[in-house]
Formats: sequence, structure tokens, C-alpha cells
Amino acid sequence: MNPFTIRLAFHGDLPFFLGSKVSTVERQLSERTSVKDVIEACGVPHTEIDLILVNGQPVDFAVILTQDVEVDVYPPNEIRSPFFPEDRLQVCDIEKFVADGHVGKLVRDLRLLGIDVAYDPLVEDQQLVRIATSENRALLTRDRRLLMHAIVRHGYYLRSQDPLEQTLEVLRRFDLGSALAPFTRCLRCNAPLEPAEKANVIGQLEPLTKIYYEQFRRCSGCGQVYWSGSHFEKLQKRIETIRSHLTGDSAE
Ligand SMILES: [Zn+2]
Repeated sequence: MNPFTIRLAFHGDLPFFLGSKVSTVERQLSERTSVKDVIEACGVPHTEIDLILVNGQPVDFAVILTQDVEVDVYPPNEIRSPFFPEDRLQVCDIEKFVADGHVGKLVRDLRLLGIDVAYDPLVEDQQLVRIATSENRALLTRDRRLLMHAIVRHGYYLRSQDPLEQTLEVLRRFDLGSALAPFTRCLRCNAPLEPAEKANVIGQLEPLTKIYYEQFRRCSGCGQVYWSGSHFEKLQKRIETIRSHLTGDSAE
């Protein structure tokens, strides 16, 4: 097979993955290669890609390249992308997630907002990939090799190392702003919270809590009891901070 040249243009924020200030890459190939493999060889996981054009025509990940072509690659939510609604590669109705073991603060934020996030700080990579696939959860990670596993269908590479920025990134990427339900999910184990009668949780309460509080929620998974005590104000503040940054976006 004669060598051929693939010219790739990465749009939106995808040049972030290229590790330099350029947004175009040229690859010389001498064997048939899927467009997905060519793109991932540039460092961009397939979970970050919503639209691929080969010589201006939309294609899916499996299309095989055999000759000189121009490839345009677009991320989700890229307002300047051409409009090919039938050819999008990411689905937009993801509501369940699994996070890798290094983003505990992000997980806490998302659970606080009521979002379903599986998390185990000790989980092995292979198991993480398996949970994402078998439970149809989007994988949240700062390890792009994990996102390049062929069986991972949905995921997101966290750009920031700051938990607040990461939370905002996930809310924007998966358009979760209208789906938030604060204080409905256990921060420890992710199970939904249920209203609980005081009489049924009184054995788990500190003396002053018994006196001052009447309304309680209990985790349906681990049994943790929640009430609007001093920790509640801190959590409420965190939610307000997140919400104000999110609405700040739309005002721009
Ligand atoms: Zn729990």
C-alpha cells in the first residue's frame, strides 16, 4: 500500500489534547486505519468527539481511511460546528456517572446536587471500565488512557484539577443544570435519601440534635442520617457557589 497523508483539524477545545499550541496535525499512514485510531493516536479520546467529517462528509468512528483525506473533528457543545444532527457520535441524555479514584471532591459536589455517581477510591482501572460499560455510566477521569478503552462508550476528560471547575465542567458538558436535585442523595454511598421519622432515627442522634431538629432524611443504602444542622449551611453555600457560576455562564 502506498503511503498516504491524513490532515486533521481539531475544533473547539480539542487542541487542549494535542499538547502544543497547534490545532492541526498531519499523519503519514501506510496501512488501512480507522479514523478513530488516527484521532486517538493524536491524544484525543473518542469520548470527547461528537462529529467527524472526512472531506466534509460526516462519518462514524469505524470508517477506514486508505488515501489522502482532510478530517475535521468537533467536540460536543461546539457552537461553531457544522450542523449534522443525525451524525452526532455522543448521546446527550447521560445522567449516571462513575468517577475514577482521584476525584473525591468532585464526586461529593455532584452527589450533593443529586447526581448519581458511583465511586470507590480503591477501584482498579479495569473494574472502573467494567462499571462504566455494564451500568451505562459516563466515566469521569483525568486519565485519558482509560477513556481510550474501546468498550468505554461515554466519558469525559476533566480538564481542570480544581474540584469546583471540574463540577462546572461536568454540569456543562452533560447539560445537567436543569436536572439538579440538591440533598436527595447520600454523600457517602450515592444511594437516594428518604424522609425519616424522628422516632426511627433518634438512636443515631447527638443530644442537641435530638432537641433542636425535627426533620430528618435517611440514606436508603448505608443508613446515614441527614438533617439541616451546621454542616447543612456549608453545603448550602457550596450549592449556591456552583449555581452562581453556572448562571454566570448563561449571562455571558
Ligand atoms: Zn448512604
